[in-house]
Amino acid sequence: MRIGLYGGTFDPVHLGHLIVAEQARVELELESVFFVLTPSPPHKSAAVVSPATHRLNMLGLAVQNNPHFAVSTVELERPGVSYTVDTLRQFRAQPEFSGVEFFLILGADSLLELKKWREPEAIIALAKLAVYSRPGLDLQQAAPQFLQAAYLLNGPQVDISATEIRQRCQRGQSIRYLVPENVRNYIFANRLY
Ligand code: ATP
Repeated sequence: MRIGLYGGTFDPVHLGHLIVAEQARVELELESVFFVLTPSPPHKSAAVVSPATHRLNMLGLAVQNNPHFAVSTVELERPGVSYTVDTLRQFRAQPEFSGVEFFLILGADSLLELKKWREPEAIIALAKLAVYSRPGLDLQQAAPQFLQAAYLLNGPQVDISATEIRQRCQRGQSIRYLVPENVRNYIFANRLY
């Protein structure tokens, strides 16, 4: 069995995330994709991130209609800064996942940053990488050992980022069709961003 792990801040989850996850699921024949919500990513510590409860609620709304998608709270429950290598070890240690092949789903920007993550060599030993390209980024800039370990996903590039969604909200611009409709309603109901 194959499982995808897709980590992120998801502030908010947007259609780019869902397109990437679905492409990975179909192309790699994944049984499930777990969206792993990061409470305080080490590389975004300076930025202000919305409360985890809101991000978690939005993720729940976004995945509710796809039986292959699920949300994982392992990083919320673990104290301290979240490291992907710890999350991979935690998943692999669970008896129900014994014998499972894990794929770590990443956007191109994350692949380029991977060398700065904790124990990147251990990460690629624990999971295969599944990488989705992102506008304006050259995957060939990634460290060769990570590029070689990566399965490059196909599918259309999606020029949507959570930063852009937040900025659009601040400017009073429309975010319709950039996030799921129920997430858009949640953002407005809770006056996020
Ligand atoms: P922000 O703009 O706040 O940095 P983001 O849109 O990049 O957020 P994250 O939650 O940081 O979203 O991303 C989680 C994962 O999804 C990362 O691996 C990121 O590379 C990937 N990702 C996000 N948006 C896209 C996209 N449009 N295309 C491909 N990968 C994406």
